[in-house]
Amino acid sequence: MTASISDALLDWYGRNARALPWRVAPGAPMPDDPAWPYRVWLSEVMLQQTTVAAVKPYFEAFTQRWPTVEALAAAGEEEVMAAWAGLGYYSRARNLVKCAREVAARGGFPATEAELRELPGLGIYTAAAIAAIAFGRRAVVVDANVERVVARLFAIAEPLPGARKAIRDCAEAITPASRAGDFAQAMMDLGSRVCTTKAPRCLLCPLSPPCAARAAGIAESLPVKPAKKAKPERRGTAFWIERANGAGREVWLVTRPGRGMLGGMRALPDDGWSARSDGTGEAPVAGEWEPLGAVRHTFTHAHLTLAVRRGEAEPEGAGEWWPLDRLEEAGLPTLYAKAARLAIARGGWNDA
Ligand code: SF4
Repeated sequence: MTASISDALLDWYGRNARALPWRVAPGAPMPDDPAWPYRVWLSEVMLQQTTVAAVKPYFEAFTQRWPTVEALAAAGEEEVMAAWAGLGYYSRARNLVKCAREVAARGGFPATEAELRELPGLGIYTAAAIAAIAFGRRAVVVDANVERVVARLFAIAEPLPGARKAIRDCAEAITPASRAGDFAQAMMDLGSRVCTTKAPRCLLCPLSPPCAARAAGIAESLPVKPAKKAKPERRGTAFWIERANGAGREVWLVTRPGRGMLGGMRALPDDGWSARSDGTGEAPVAGEWEPLGAVRHTFTHAHLTLAVRRGEAEPEGAGEWWPLDRLEEAGLPTLYAKAARLAIARGGWNDA
């Protein structure tokens, strides 16, 4: 049965694979290009917790600007962080630079899962995906899409995360000895397009005949997820400090500490909301602060309401004046980009 599952899936993939800039066509040999593992690795890091549609333009921009792992290794961390802005989960970008430097120092990507896992930022899933897709090694690749397909195919009713071992064992049993990369990508595609979280399209599914959850009429209820905890609410304040400079205007930006939330990213100065949850709104310098409203942002672990205040102040400490007409080049993460849009929409600076 396991061979017929992989055969049916690979056959479906041959007819339905998505054309993506980091993929080869189904059944095609891996490109004889030293940059191939780099492209696979970059796409896999970008795709963690992020949709294909969101990743595509970033992937194109990164590979045009840094076409090889050596080029990325030579880039400044601040430059890479700015290019990553908007993609979220910024620890990925910091690890990206670290990993590129380590790979360049080694003279290229290692090909085995075990060695790949030694690289910064590469967990079980990413190492397996690169081994399979970039190097054709047989590897058991289990992301959330694959987890869902396998839990349904074998009707694994134990709740997550306890079910992960059984899911992995079943995934291992159906992974073929050859075409490991195609098989991994086929499973991911099936999970994202056919075996969807809600209303799986079983009538179109190549795995419909052997699927135990479909036969039992319980597909949509699997995998069983643990009850979600409510995210805590946080509050904080960001400060918009603007000045005239010749014909233009500038805003004061700081760089956040390397560790912690949005670490290493440019930002508006704030009251330290990320280190506490009461949002007392202390300003970085004394002055009169005009409230402009608030923006809301959701992180993986918390919701944040960030008030934005504008004021006249002489900034203290490290930071830089940034031209307002080039603000999009600052690489502000989404939270601060929202705050900046609010400040600009509320009329910018009051010269009076
Ligand atoms: Fe998913 Fe339905 Fe296919 Fe089973 S038959 S794998 S539940 S889409």
